[in-house]
Amino acid sequence: MTPARPLAAGDTVYIHSLKGGFIDGRKGQWIIGRTGTVTAVLAGGQHAEVAVDTTGPPSVTGRQSTWTLAVSGLELITAGASGRKPRLGDCARVERIFLSHGDLYALRTYLVGQCGKIVALRGGTHALVELEESVPAPGGRAHRFTFHLEDLAITPAAPEPARPPEYGTALTGDRLRHAAGLPLRHRNGPVTAACGTRANLILIGEWSPPFDPDLERTCPACATAINRQERSLTSAA
Ligand SMILES: [Zn+2]
Repeated sequence: MTPARPLAAGDTVYIHSLKGGFIDGRKGQWIIGRTGTVTAVLAGGQHAEVAVDTTGPPSVTGRQSTWTLAVSGLELITAGASGRKPRLGDCARVERIFLSHGDLYALRTYLVGQCGKIVALRGGTHALVELEESVPAPGGRAHRFTFHLEDLAITPAAPEPARPPEYGTALTGDRLRHAAGLPLRHRNGPVTAACGTRANLILIGEWSPPFDPDLERTCPACATAINRQERSLTSAA
């Protein structure tokens, strides 16, 4: 079966055939039916290096854990991070110098293993990466290099989590718990809850118990109001 899209480094694949791969079929039988992680797609796209989970491999394999297999024998199970288009700010680790410009090959001992951030994308195939550490290069130390994307392990930059507003608890006479937006001026007395009702803020020192919509006797209107607000924050992120 041919994957629906070209495999990329980081993809998880199911190995269903060794045909066409650079592997001794008799020694490699044990990896059929296993899953592995694509560590590189070779130029031409017909072969991929796949790191196979080596838990308990037969000794005959010599514990080799990375195999060069034909793409036709692999089935994509989970798209790795690189299945998503890289973006500016993503973290990149230099895995190898294979498809990047030949000039970088001479620097591979310095570059491989380095981490950095993508600061520019070029032509859909290359990325300018600002490395955390500079490396010796012709003309002096440098920390910005253009790599082929397939030479990089790319981790999406963590999105800034939108901080939902925090709510304390306020009570009405019927002992219903309402959500009171924090921070409040720390005083006793009625406050306007998320649902619009006036309720008495519970204060213990300067702390109010967090409003928990899953507790008993919580105001459904407050829960709905907070839920809607958090959803809009999430979709804005
Ligand atoms: Zn309420």
